[in-house]
Amino acid sequence: MIVIGLDCAAPRLVFERYRDAMPNLRALMERGTWGPLRSSEPPITVPAWTCMVSGRDAGELGLYGFRNRVPGETRLRMVDSSDVRLKRVWDWLGEHGQRVAPLFVPLTSPPTPVRGQMVSGFMWPGSEAPWCFPRGLEAEIVDRFGPYLADVEDFRANDLDRIYRDIVTMTAQHVDIAAHVWSEKRPDFMMMVEIGVDRFHHAFWRHIDPEHPRHEPGNPWEHLGREYYQLLDTHIGRLCGLADRHTTMLVVSDHGARAMHGGFCINEWLIRQGYLVLREPPKAPSPLDHGLVDWQRTTAWAEGGYYGRVFLNVAGREPDGTIPPAELRAVRRKLRAELENLRDDENNPVPVTVRIPEEHYRQVRGLPPDLMVYFDDLKLRAIGSIGGDQIVATQHDTGPDGCNHDWNGIFVMSGGGTPARGHIEGAEIYDVTPTILGAFGVPRPPGILGRDWSR
Ligand SMILES: [Zn+2]
Repeated sequence: MIVIGLDCAAPRLVFERYRDAMPNLRALMERGTWGPLRSSEPPITVPAWTCMVSGRDAGELGLYGFRNRVPGETRLRMVDSSDVRLKRVWDWLGEHGQRVAPLFVPLTSPPTPVRGQMVSGFMWPGSEAPWCFPRGLEAEIVDRFGPYLADVEDFRANDLDRIYRDIVTMTAQHVDIAAHVWSEKRPDFMMMVEIGVDRFHHAFWRHIDPEHPRHEPGNPWEHLGREYYQLLDTHIGRLCGLADRHTTMLVVSDHGARAMHGGFCINEWLIRQGYLVLREPPKAPSPLDHGLVDWQRTTAWAEGGYYGRVFLNVAGREPDGTIPPAELRAVRRKLRAELENLRDDENNPVPVTVRIPEEHYRQVRGLPPDLMVYFDDLKLRAIGSIGGDQIVATQHDTGPDGCNHDWNGIFVMSGGGTPARGHIEGAEIYDVTPTILGAFGVPRPPGILGRDWSR
């Protein structure tokens, strides 16, 4: 089986707008099963891919974003592969005698032993840090394909021509590596994830999507959407060419993308509502400095991102907690009600979805946010920076970006004796692990989520 993961590939682009530019993918669709793939909660790369390859929800994994809470502190720490404490699909396949090759999958840095080869994904810290299992594969790849390009630098910047060149070069190198591993190592299961698609969307969405509020028709980058997706399709065709009729091809994405209309300044709002108190106001708009927070008078603070994570300052849990644990639920209920009745600066309602991790997940590990907040169904980001004069901002706080994540990714499966169901609805990210295991005839591990589409 070859799994091609296109990070952030959006159903509307793949199945509609650029469908005619993707003959290889279309051929898989016509001979197989395809449809939207509902992402994880939250629809963010790190939890999403890990949910996909484990059949577990983000609560069970204890992964709520790229960064997670450090116990006994208010700060967050970047996660890495050591934070994944449950088995992933390649572990089960290996235990059943299959040779595996997960390549560039998020949360595989540092690389971990597998029955085959592993190449770390885009969170590889670079330089001397290991990025392959076994490590001998590093020199083998560098000798053939040059220094490993794990990610594109500064993809939220203004030099778009440079960014596009870097994305195209990186994507081509990844496919070269995958083709090499498939031909030389002969794995039974290979999965590659291309982060270039996500980087492309963040850099170019405004320019390629006519529905983006700041889209300028006739801009010099408008054609790049079709061009890049066409390029992806050529790469898909190359990998399909390496497979035979016994090989199942699976093309998936971890979430989709949509036009970002701006951001909701969640910490600024918490300050105005009296939940978050600073010892002195910031001199200029800036990220929330935890050293400036008057924790003895603070009830809640938030982390921004594709969604907002609101944390309550609870006695015994946070270093200077103010809320007695017995009152946590009441404070959360009140804050939730206020969030669900949000207004922008012009007093227009802002649609908000609030989720409580303990109610949503099957199990909650680590330190989850107390409230997970989605603004206008992901049309708006959550902005954690403070000091601006607006609650709803039209700009991103970490550089230019036209795109937010969206709930649906893609699912395309073909070949290897899997059924050709044509267009399907209702596939979920959790279905991917049982489907892969099903295609290999590996028994379903107890406790995992999802449906097996291979039967
Ligand atoms: Zn992603």
